Amino acid sequence: MSKNTLSIASLGTPRIGPRRELKFALEKYWSGQLSAKDLSETATALRCANWARQHALGITTIPSNDFSFYDHVLDTAVMVGAIPKAYGWSGGPVNLETYFAMARGSVGGASHPICVHGHSAPAHGVPALEMTKWFDTNYHYMVPELEPDQDFTLASTKPVDEFREALAIGYKTRPVILGPISFLKLSKCTDGTTECINLIDKILSVYLDLMEQLQAAGAEWLQIDEPALVLDLSEIERAAYKRVYSKIAKTVPSLKIMLTSYFGSLGNNLDIATSLPVAGLHIDLVRAPEQLTAVRQKLQQNQILSLGVIDGRNIWRADLQKLHDWLLPVVQERGLTGIELAPSCSLLHTPIDLELETELDSDLKSWLAFSVQKMAELSTLGQAFEKGVETVAGALQAATKALQARATSDKVHNKTVQNRVQATGSELTSRNSPFKTRSFLQQEATGLPLFPTTTIGSFPQTAEVRKARTAFNKGELSPTAYNAFLKTETKRAIRWQEEIGIDVLVHGEFERNDMVQYFGEQLAGYAFTKHAWVQSYGSRCVRPPIIYGDVARPHAMTVEWTAYAQSLTSRPVKGMLTGPVTMLQWSFVRDDMPRADVCKQIALALRDEVTDLETAGIRLIQVDEPALREGLPLRRLEWSAYLEWAVACFKLATSGVTDAVQIHTHMCYCEFNDIISSIAAMDADVISIETSRSKMELLDAFVSYSYPNDIGPGVYDIHSPRIPKTAEISNLLEKANGLLKATQIWVNPDCGLKTRSWDEVRPALIAMVAAAKNLRQHA
Ligand code: GLN
Ligand code: ZN
Repeated sequence: MSKNTLSIASLGTPRIGPRRELKFALEKYWSGQLSAKDLSETATALRCANWARQHALGITTIPSNDFSFYDHVLDTAVMVGAIPKAYGWSGGPVNLETYFAMARGSVGGASHPICVHGHSAPAHGVPALEMTKWFDTNYHYMVPELEPDQDFTLASTKPVDEFREALAIGYKTRPVILGPISFLKLSKCTDGTTECINLIDKILSVYLDLMEQLQAAGAEWLQIDEPALVLDLSEIERAAYKRVYSKIAKTVPSLKIMLTSYFGSLGNNLDIATSLPVAGLHIDLVRAPEQLTAVRQKLQQNQILSLGVIDGRNIWRADLQKLHDWLLPVVQERGLTGIELAPSCSLLHTPIDLELETELDSDLKSWLAFSVQKMAELSTLGQAFEKGVETVAGALQAATKALQARATSDKVHNKTVQNRVQATGSELTSRNSPFKTRSFLQQEATGLPLFPTTTIGSFPQTAEVRKARTAFNKGELSPTAYNAFLKTETKRAIRWQEEIGIDVLVHGEFERNDMVQYFGEQLAGYAFTKHAWVQSYGSRCVRPPIIYGDVARPHAMTVEWTAYAQSLTSRPVKGMLTGPVTMLQWSFVRDDMPRADVCKQIALALRDEVTDLETAGIRLIQVDEPALREGLPLRRLEWSAYLEWAVACFKLATSGVTDAVQIHTHMCYCEFNDIISSIAAMDADVISIETSRSKMELLDAFVSYSYPNDIGPGVYDIHSPRIPKTAEISNLLEKANGLLKATQIWVNPDCGLKTRSWDEVRPALIAMVAAAKNLRQHA
């Protein structure tokens, strides 16, 4: 950063490559088709391209070490030598094999327990580290596992190596590392009780080693990410910040630290963050613009204030003129060298380049900005401050014009939807009668046995199914032929379920590409991209739909398939929908309206689908909400407001039916203890949950709450190819039966079966039905 220019930073860029080059290289490497050397060359090329792209776009503070083969938290664990014994590492450099064993399990290791994007491997060998969501994003990180007396050592100098690599080709970067306190906050201790933060002094000495090496290698700046600063922290953690950052300042006095917070407001950690002896502080001004005033007051004049003003979590074009006017007093007060312009957080969570989207509606496209466009926005804003706003007048006006068009476009605004939302009162968010009454009527209507058996919705998406869909999408298979194919699959699934004696059938979801996309494609207000991939975990990327306008349902979405399935059998077929909160949570959501209101629009569209299903004679309807818990705000204080609207939206979607229609919901991979009252408030007649891996422990929340409605505790793990034995399922069912009333219990797998093969599904469900029948006889 030279004297009279301001710093324009990206904080981190997507790693995967514009055409998902890293994904394909990794997958080839894992399957033995690519050598380690070739993989490493692909990685080098991607890093160089990232640096060059940022430079060309006007980023002046370019990061390094934002690249990762799999995950930056895993990289950090490896860097500090936190490699669990099971992976057989005995010191020295950590090779790729060990690294990927931690990420994916060793040869034949267990799969990641992720439901929606399920993938799997044989269940032998050392399992992968656990994986969980990175704050409130849809990115997943590998959870470091630490011993209570964990020792740390500098096992990898990746940050130094990549700094040198960039330097060698002419970029003096600002390396980025995950800070020690956030790292420990994201880790788990193997004994389950020790707080990882107790290891702070031990881990700090390794971080200090690294920083000394960075300093020696010529690094002038270091970006330390401490997103934990936006969380509720314990006193020990808060105290650690002061100690750690003072020690860093003393040990590497000439290394300037840019400490970054993101994903929210510093809140009650603001005094701590602004009092640390660091050269700069980054704050998220998209999620928490209100913190600007307080931080401005507290931060020393000689510290750089990094202004996170371009949304790193969403894809909307910024209002540059408005940003300019808002920030001008800050720039005048602190001077050009006293500020930095940046995205709210690393650009990791945005797709790479909007220009690749050649088929997107041109109006919508003009309202969007992906990571490339966001960097250009930062550069424009920087130029406005450096050279005068008139020098970028054209760019500012273009942005203003696009935003005005968006604000008034009838592609976005639908009066009918808005009026309907307005007129929606709380009377629409509850069923006609209490559960007891409904349950009686439903039992009369369905005549189901005790411990009814069912599945969660999807049956195997076989190679054949996917091939047919691809051919149909390419126009190689006619709609008639595709439809006939899907009908055959559905019919076969119905016949087979009847044959093995499942009580409540599903149509199998063969026609669905993805549980959100399938609905989004049929709803107005949703758009889909071709190349806008963002990393979900490792080589896995997702293309979240874009909710850009008022959501409406032009036509019924599932009635035809469900009714067709029901026409084939006298047993009840369960309708299958994705819930409003999940539809919201797994999309890029418009930023011109509160999320709660967008959710309400989706809920109303689904409400119509639910009532249409009833009209078509469907007696049970499942509305999946696997993402309900994910939506919880980072701060505890904000939970109840979120839960209130999320639950209300679920109820709005499901309360339009008569008492005799049974509403099911499904949630996988979810801890229920602290949200059980909201789960109960959803008032679904039946909830199916994932419980097999916890050996029914996740039921405890329901038991201690005396949860009144019905529950289907998952009786076998669908993430593993292991085929469960009847006896195992019986054991789990006995356990559930000891905890709940017999009349409350449903029998089902943990989740949908789309990622499994029929060879796995057939024997597993046969065993499940046998276990239910046994229990009926003995209970
Ligand atoms: N009905 C969906 C399925 O079976 C549910 C998926 C999920 O819970 N993520 O595939
Ligand atoms: Zn599930």
